[in-house]
Amino acid sequence: MNRVRLLVMNAALGPLDYRVPDGMSLEPGSVVVAPLGPRQVTGIVWESERLPGTEVPDARLRPLLGALPVPPLRAPLRRLIEWTADYYIASMASVARMALSSSAALRGGGTITEYRLTGALPPRMTPQRDAALSALEGEQGTIRELADLAGVSEAVLRGLVNADCLEAVEVAIDRPFPAPRPDHAPPDLSPGQQEAADRFVDAVKARKFAPMLLDGVTGSGKTETYFEGVAEALRLGRQVLVLLPEIALTQNFLKRFEARFGVAPTVWHSAQKQSDRRRAWRQVSEGGASVVVGARSALFLPFRDLGLIVVDEAHEISFKQDDGVRYNARDVAVMRARFERIPAILASATPALESLQMAEAGVYEKIDLPARFGGAVLPDIRILDLREESPPRGRWLAPSLVKAMEERLERGEQSLLFLNRRGYAPLTLCRQCGYRFQCPNCSAWLVEHRLTRRLACHHCGHQVTSPEACPECGEKDCLAACGPGVERIADEVAEIFPDARTAVVTSDTLSSPDKIGEFVDAAQAGEIDVIVGTQLVTKGYHFPELTLVGVVDADLGLEGGDLRAAERSYQQIAQVAGRAGRAAKPGEVLIQTRHPEAPVIAALAAYDRDAFYEAESDARRNAGAPPFGRWAAIIVSSEDEAEAAEAARKIGGSAPRLDDIAVYGPAPAPLSMLRGRYRYRLLINARRSAALQQTIREWLGPLDHPQGVRVGVDIDPYSFV
Ligand code: ADP
Ligand code: ZN
Repeated sequence: MNRVRLLVMNAALGPLDYRVPDGMSLEPGSVVVAPLGPRQVTGIVWESERLPGTEVPDARLRPLLGALPVPPLRAPLRRLIEWTADYYIASMASVARMALSSSAALRGGGTITEYRLTGALPPRMTPQRDAALSALEGEQGTIRELADLAGVSEAVLRGLVNADCLEAVEVAIDRPFPAPRPDHAPPDLSPGQQEAADRFVDAVKARKFAPMLLDGVTGSGKTETYFEGVAEALRLGRQVLVLLPEIALTQNFLKRFEARFGVAPTVWHSAQKQSDRRRAWRQVSEGGASVVVGARSALFLPFRDLGLIVVDEAHEISFKQDDGVRYNARDVAVMRARFERIPAILASATPALESLQMAEAGVYEKIDLPARFGGAVLPDIRILDLREESPPRGRWLAPSLVKAMEERLERGEQSLLFLNRRGYAPLTLCRQCGYRFQCPNCSAWLVEHRLTRRLACHHCGHQVTSPEACPECGEKDCLAACGPGVERIADEVAEIFPDARTAVVTSDTLSSPDKIGEFVDAAQAGEIDVIVGTQLVTKGYHFPELTLVGVVDADLGLEGGDLRAAERSYQQIAQVAGRAGRAAKPGEVLIQTRHPEAPVIAALAAYDRDAFYEAESDARRNAGAPPFGRWAAIIVSSEDEAEAAEAARKIGGSAPRLDDIAVYGPAPAPLSMLRGRYRYRLLINARRSAALQQTIREWLGPLDHPQGVRVGVDIDPYSFV
């Protein structure tokens, strides 16, 4: 009797056993379809000894319905799924779902139907049809993708198909990607770069687990250097995964990759077209995608023969996923490298304290690039004490910063103003009655976006059109914007320098790869004088004419619910400072602050990274915080406030009393309502040696809560809102 145990893609179910019909050949990792009651479910064949479950007698087993035409998930990926579920206290099904992330790809080869304009006009024109016809000029995609693109319903497009204005095109999906050429255009490396590159090449050749921290100042050529490791993997016919923290950085990366290797790499992220994802997934699994560059979700792709993983800007907080499976892609990347027995390179100019600690302990090999490439010098950093030199009333830029910008404008150089706040103003209130605009679903203020004339919640996406009158007292023209966002800074720049060409760079304005590409081209061509941006502009970009960086509010990062606020602030400002003076012309950085004495600011001004990390390490050591101790968070939420409070109290009341684990809370979360759910939090602080996950599982496992209550566990949390 031939039977298999399945990990089924349903978190509510345990492992299930099935009979293998005659003639079906399966192995661990095979992806199959199984009957489940009257329905069907996708499952992965798993080693039964690794997936304990209740034995079902042979006679009661139902036969599998079929095997899907994809290569079996390999053992290293199966081990990664097990490890991730175990470490982050998530269900294996929800982790495995991240590996089977393109349902279309699972259905096997063939074609997909896309549509494009025929040029014909419909017999009856409507405003929506008209809008669709102009938006879809030169585009091709599925009906759903085109509907999104044109901002019309799918029904409108189906109407256009019937009117022969859109035609169907069958697109083959499973063709391999062009192969990058390792020796297309190798750079002349400096001696320091060459030494680092040689280490990467050797590590790739060695085919052993080797975690490496590439610690190089901004502009030192980290990318050029790890590209040599990529080239070696290609020579060996193996695959490479490069993780980037933001989709926004991909465009820039693609260009550099293409210049070095002759063709673009394979891209993977959640905002891609379904057909692109499908092709990428299949070719990753079949080996026809040699280099994949992607967001964190690329980490679970089913590579056929992975030879190297690179995590670029490895300190970035966006590698931490904060919903669903709450994992940190930086850490899981190192685990994947361990299971695959390959090197992992974590590259950063401002490594996380956790990574530095691993290097210090000898677990990670540390590779340094201490100087900028081509003799470029690091920028001069000056502190602007806003208590001594304040901007004029209603303005945010101090006179010396304005003067420095003026000099750049005169010389035809570029300035970058950094403020990590999207929109025009973070709070709007009524001057008459004091009414403040708050999100109905979250305990958060609505942020004014003047470019789109809306008030928006940055937590749940709730939006309203900016009203003319106060909804409370009815008074007209009485709404006042409080505090600055990037749009407001851009307005200020326009008032002071009416002729300056200004670009606002946020996730609102650079919402697609095309827009990012346009921005980068314009900035590189010198068509932009002043860039005003959020953290989106702090990394990755290389604009030779950019010689001034102004940090509008260096104190902002120290507020809010970030458990590593000082470190994050340091990293953000050091990164944005690193955009200045990257080529022949020297750069200057002006940091506006009300707390010049704060260790973060003082360390930045003195270029004393070591001093900052040392002070921060001491503080963390004293607090038992990571990397010296460990944190976990528990988030309890419900649409019913009393229910949430009661569940949190129950969890707090049954907290284990142990010497090596302390539990704080429950307390209302700083963001006490989010998307209509009331939230409570507990913070757990454990010694490194404590059995943290085990304790949490045994603690929360037996507790029952009403249906509407959700209990989330966040291991190694970053944000505490
Ligand atoms: P980092 O990632 O360390 O900030 P980059 O890899 O972006 O640095 O390099 C900074 C700039 O210097 C880039 O424009 C890069 O192309 C250039 N560069 C670095 N090393 C070399 C080299 N060996 N030859 C030519 N250009 C280089
Ligand atoms: Zn909201």
